[in-house]
Amino acid sequence: MPEPTRPGNGNIRRGLNPGTILLALLAAAFGYLFASRLDTFLADRSGVKREITVMNTSANIVIPADSGSRLESAKLADLAEQAIREVDALMSPVGETSDVKKLNSAQAGTWIQVSPLTWTVVMEALRWHRLTGGAFDPTIGPVKRLFHFNQSETDAWPDAAALAAAKERVGGEKVLFEREGMRLSFAKDGMRLDLGAIAKGYGADRAIETLLANGVKNALVEIGGEVRTIGVNTNAKPSAAWKAGIENPRGKGYIPLPDINDKSLATSGDVNQYFIYKGKRFEHIIDPRIGLPLGEGIVSVTVIHPTSCMAADALATALTVLGREEGRKFLAGQALGLFKDGVRVIMLLSAPDGALRRVDFAVDNQGAMIETESEPAFVVPQESGEERPKETRQGAD
Ligand code: AMP
Ligand code: MG
Repeated sequence: MPEPTRPGNGNIRRGLNPGTILLALLAAAFGYLFASRLDTFLADRSGVKREITVMNTSANIVIPADSGSRLESAKLADLAEQAIREVDALMSPVGETSDVKKLNSAQAGTWIQVSPLTWTVVMEALRWHRLTGGAFDPTIGPVKRLFHFNQSETDAWPDAAALAAAKERVGGEKVLFEREGMRLSFAKDGMRLDLGAIAKGYGADRAIETLLANGVKNALVEIGGEVRTIGVNTNAKPSAAWKAGIENPRGKGYIPLPDINDKSLATSGDVNQYFIYKGKRFEHIIDPRIGLPLGEGIVSVTVIHPTSCMAADALATALTVLGREEGRKFLAGQALGLFKDGVRVIMLLSAPDGALRRVDFAVDNQGAMIETESEPAFVVPQESGEERPKETRQGAD
């Protein structure tokens, strides 16, 4: 059996995040490398695995043996790390170099020139906003700030006037942009850009593109549970597969997924960032159409996309908001459009009695969509002897 890993809790700066994805990240295979510090000498043949803290969470860069690049694996990991840190520096809600912070601090109508990277992500976020009828909204910040998703139980709820005022300041259509000069502006004071649902995916894409540009054939980059792989996992014998699974959000074990070689994977969910109000669980994903956090129902949404991790990331968040019925319509409506190269979605839903249901949507590359429903079957890894895969995290924002 491959060695799936337990996900961890992300969001180092702001509380815990849903940990939903399990990955085989070769922990044991690379242990000796770090122990002996032979990475510069053996780098190209032995590969590298690096874990870093970035984007409010942790990230993993894995380049297995025989990368295909002329550069040392440690150097390749440096380049991938730089790519992720660049995205973080530009799109984090805090920090002097952040375009997002500059925009969020400016008055309505002030034009802020942003970097081409930020521009790319904002344009993509606004596209998802339009495509999903507003379910995905990168301006959700003012509503999100009224709640504390710190796993607490609370009797406090923001007052109606504060909620209404915050909702007035939300809306992707209120982000103004000038293509020439890559300038952004808000139509209303008090708006806030929040790229937390899409920037991790983009970071993984940028890191992988950097590795590809340097001749790497096989690699995995994971940021807070959003994953992109290229090629195969030469360290996993005999499968040579990049393995992943969905952690049981309410107990032990994981749901194995099909191999994710040359794919992207993202999960959104309620696992760690939530609060309980009057016995009901509310998660950090907001339905922008009503201006409130999502209540119980959708426990997690996992998306496997044939290429883009940015798309997987945005789609996982959007489908969490849309839910099963609207999500089905959206996927079917885009089967020959956005999803013409195929996509897979696994939703975990919570029934009124608390039991979990699994719903799968698979759009194939002919535009056909299949929906199946089942009871989720969790595999519980044995404790002893087996290689324990590395934890990964999901969902910093
Ligand atoms: P993810 O874990 O990728 O689903 O991203 C969740 C984060 O995205 C939240 O913590 C918010 O910062 C932000 N967010 C919440 N609701 C939405 C939404 N409807 N559309 C876009 N971003 C959202
Ligand atoms: Mg997302």
